[in-house]
Amino acid sequence: MAEDCLFCKIIAGEIPSTEVYSDEKFYAFRDINPGAPTHVLVIPRKHIARITEADANDATLLGEMMLRANRIAEAEGVAEPGFRYVMNCNSDGGQSVYHIHLHILGGRALSWPPG
Ligand code: AMP
Repeated sequence: MAEDCLFCKIIAGEIPSTEVYSDEKFYAFRDINPGAPTHVLVIPRKHIARITEADANDATLLGEMMLRANRIAEAEGVAEPGFRYVMNCNSDGGQSVYHIHLHILGGRALSWPPG
């Protein structure tokens, strides 16, 4: 757990969240400011501040995160109509919380390219 990390505090239960999925490696919860009818954040329990800090030791973890997210998208009912995964990195990428998180956005037709 990293000090002063919002998402580490959510994992620890120190800050409330609406759980969608939880296991020994991952936690998923609803975004507090949803950008779509379905907006779930999938995070590893391991603190990795930004995706560019992940290394070869994290390869399995990152792959598993995508596979868990697939199951969550199915459970949320967005897999078939379609949805989007987003992971922002650093300021120009729009990252505001420095604990990697995969956004699952769905429930409406999404425009492209993003702003
Ligand atoms: P990003 O801008 O990619 O770093 O995404 C961070 C996301 O975390 C944003 O979509 C926020 O709305 C969301 N967020 C911030 N604080 C909370 C919180 N306490 N509970 C749930 N989602 C949050």
